[in-house]
Amino acid sequence: MTETPTCPRCGKKGHSVDGATVKSMLAVSLRHVQDIPYRFCASPDCDVVYYSDDGAQTFTTHQVRERVYQKAPEADDVLICYCFQHTPADIRQRVAQSTQATLIDDINAGIHAGQCACDWRNPQGNCCLGNVRQLVKQVEASTITSEEE
Ligand SMILES: [Zn+2]
Repeated sequence: MTETPTCPRCGKKGHSVDGATVKSMLAVSLRHVQDIPYRFCASPDCDVVYYSDDGAQTFTTHQVRERVYQKAPEADDVLICYCFQHTPADIRQRVAQSTQATLIDDINAGIHAGQCACDWRNPQGNCCLGNVRQLVKQVEASTITSEEE
């Protein structure tokens, strides 16, 4: 296979997720899960969370147990770090208090202590740190812009 299978709903490329992630995230009977490769759709405007590589099967936001950060990135109370329960509101507050580095250190400490379970807890099936760092940068940038105004 040369092309990355794209989401049948929005046409964007998703990354592959472990079957264990799909199984732990679904709110519907796991009898629907097949032993086939699945991918995660991260498009905010698309309600598909998981789709099969062949595009024949999809699971939407209503069929998963967690609210998915990528599908509601503007929400304050969605989890961004599913293992240690941080929300975008937490991150905005940390940046306002200039303690965002402490938060990232704390997540890292949890990871090193083997306390994270990203493959079962985070709908994207891998570590949240990339999302956290990206949001911290975004909030920092918007803070600087608003101070200049
Ligand atoms: Zn999609």
